[in-house]
Amino acid sequence: MLKKILVISLALNLLVLPNVVFGQTKQKISLLLFNGKVFTADTLGSTAEAVAVDGEKIVAVGKTSDLKAKYQAVKEIDLGGKLVTPGFNDAHVHFLRGAVALLNVNLTDAKTLAEAKARVAAKVKEVKPGEWIVGRGWDHTLWGGKFPSRTDLDAVAPANPVFLVRVDGHVGWANSKALELAKIDKNTKSPEGGEIERDASGEATGILKETSQGLVSALIAQPSPEQMNKGMELALKMAREYGITSVQDNSGYETTKLYREFLKADKLTVRVSEWQNFEDSVAELKRQRDEFASFKDNPSRLKLGAVKGYVDGTLGSKTAAMLAPFSDDANNSGIPRRSAEELTKMIVERDKEGFQITLHAIGDKANRMALDGFKEAKSKNSIEFVTSGSENMRSDGVKMRLNFPRHRIEHAQVVNPSDFKRFAELGIIASMQPSHAISDKRWAESRLGEYRVLGAYAWHFMQSYGVHVPFGTDFPVESINPYQTLYAAVSRQDTDGDPQGGWQPQEKLSMAAAIRCHTYESAYAEFAEKEKGTIAVGMFADLVVHSRDLLTIEPKEILTTEPIYTIFNGRVVYQK
Ligand SMILES: [Zn+2]
Repeated sequence: MLKKILVISLALNLLVLPNVVFGQTKQKISLLLFNGKVFTADTLGSTAEAVAVDGEKIVAVGKTSDLKAKYQAVKEIDLGGKLVTPGFNDAHVHFLRGAVALLNVNLTDAKTLAEAKARVAAKVKEVKPGEWIVGRGWDHTLWGGKFPSRTDLDAVAPANPVFLVRVDGHVGWANSKALELAKIDKNTKSPEGGEIERDASGEATGILKETSQGLVSALIAQPSPEQMNKGMELALKMAREYGITSVQDNSGYETTKLYREFLKADKLTVRVSEWQNFEDSVAELKRQRDEFASFKDNPSRLKLGAVKGYVDGTLGSKTAAMLAPFSDDANNSGIPRRSAEELTKMIVERDKEGFQITLHAIGDKANRMALDGFKEAKSKNSIEFVTSGSENMRSDGVKMRLNFPRHRIEHAQVVNPSDFKRFAELGIIASMQPSHAISDKRWAESRLGEYRVLGAYAWHFMQSYGVHVPFGTDFPVESINPYQTLYAAVSRQDTDGDPQGGWQPQEKLSMAAAIRCHTYESAYAEFAEKEKGTIAVGMFADLVVHSRDLLTIEPKEILTTEPIYTIFNGRVVYQK
């Protein structure tokens, strides 16, 4: 038998060899990248020199000489030694809504309260009296740490209702006109999971924390279709320019309609996994899932992803739910959105229906509440859980759920030392955003204390337990720039290079590991690691050619690295 095969293969070789020599049977493909340093992002950290692409997919990865000999490409790109990686997958981004928000009053990087007020004053000149002024991006920790108040805004906008959301999205800042329209006065009770901040005399200050923002935001009209379109164009442009080819988006089920329109018009240059809202009833979530399925979108381009909820607020706003009070605020342990019992009940119900659940949890208490809820779901619905191997049938014949939910916790920012291993035990993904660490480090230690801070932004420690750690940006809370994420992950320094040697440097990752978190791990977090996230045969051709070799340059050079080419679905969609 073996002999026979040998004879046949010899004969075949003889048949094709002469043609190969003269290059006549070179396989026709659409794109060949050669003469580069191809970081495949596989587990071994393998590199290659060339990538062959045909249509949407990668057909070969290897040596320049081998691939040049084998393929004839419509488009050939000589990489000149440049680094190629898989396209970035932003595992947590407010992609569409964030871009739409930037079209309003943008307070990102307003260095002083006066600057923020000036930007509002400029907007007042553009609108009619009585018209709403909305915006986001302010950060009072840059202004001395004291929350601003309604009177600050009344001074520049006496005749317009104004509502400005903090950079983290968890605190709103309203002027008197907006409070009046929302009927918020001395007697208004704070809603569950929120707080209307009051002054010494009991009057609302204009600061609305967490769910209390809804009292005002409910009055503000949704963005117009024109604004949504403009936001989409802006978001997609940013993604192409930063080498982002996949987004796990937190813009809401309704936005899938617009994504679908862009997909049909062949303008959707990222793969979108859109999240549903955990707060919606199970019946509504299922209705959305059924309705979405009826559109028969190409799931590799547009799909429904996790069901996203909130357990608590943020550290910056001191609304994160903590096991013990903040070190710089002895009477404050944050604001959980709801009771642990209620949260667990909701997790169990949604898990039972096969939804992948992802929960925003910042404080150590919030992370524990989420883990407790997942544990309960696992034991209650365990009959459907696959616990090992690829068996889908238990010995007693009970069919198990093949599609393990891979539930997630978003941010996993402050975790009690005893809870790290519970992520691994329960198979919970820790979806983290390194940029948060270098933005928050200014005050994180005083807020958490010298011991608790050791369990904060601990992506390396988390990984040491075998936990999957995808990376995202949380844009517009941080810049959507993935190079900033990589820089933060490997340096633990802010963009000015502080502190020397890095903040809590034991949490630094190698660049290879950081790239893998932003590509492969992100794909894993959305069940897509078999089709994207690494450079291998059969994967979608989502690739970035970088201006510098991220794997060898000094950390500060990472921040000025940029794509030369962004290739999406086998097509060059951006060229520097
Ligand atoms: Zn977010």
